Amino acid sequence: MADLITRQAAIEAIDKIFPADPMRNDYTQGITCGAALAEEYIKQLPPAQADSKEMSSTHKALDCISRQDAIDALEKVVELYPWRVPGDRDSYSKYNEAWNDALDRAESEIEALPSAQSERKKGKWINVRHDNIAECDQCGITGRAWMNFCFDCGADMREGAERRTDDND
Ligand SMILES: [Zn+2]
Repeated sequence: MADLITRQAAIEAIDKIFPADPMRNDYTQGITCGAALAEEYIKQLPPAQADSKEMSSTHKALDCISRQDAIDALEKVVELYPWRVPGDRDSYSKYNEAWNDALDRAESEIEALPSAQSERKKGKWINVRHDNIAECDQCGITGRAWMNFCFDCGADMREGAERRTDDND
């Protein structure tokens, strides 16, 4: 399945690239403009289709994008200011170099983001009855104690369950 990240995390990751003093020189301007356009492209990516089995409703509610789409978008931004194109002397500039550096850094930040699917919270089936009807301790929905994931909030339930203390039959 697609490797998803949240759009918010991607934008925050790119935020780290902006220099403290954007107007200091051509290089800092190139970084600033490259990073700004990278964010713009990320904001415009279509939301990824959440896989209902893999994604918790928390993550369905979050705005997720495909990591590959994000990387592809950044590649397009890189190409706007070519750096060191053989035979093209105009491609050598501090600004273009900075633009490319900004996008390289944005790309590695995006690569390093945890995938949205792995941020799944842990939960437990509680008040488990003899017929395995139980309650999710995260969202309170009624489910079955043998389910590995809560079908409502997506919590990972594999670490155990608690039986009802007054369940004597
Ligand atoms: Zn739940």
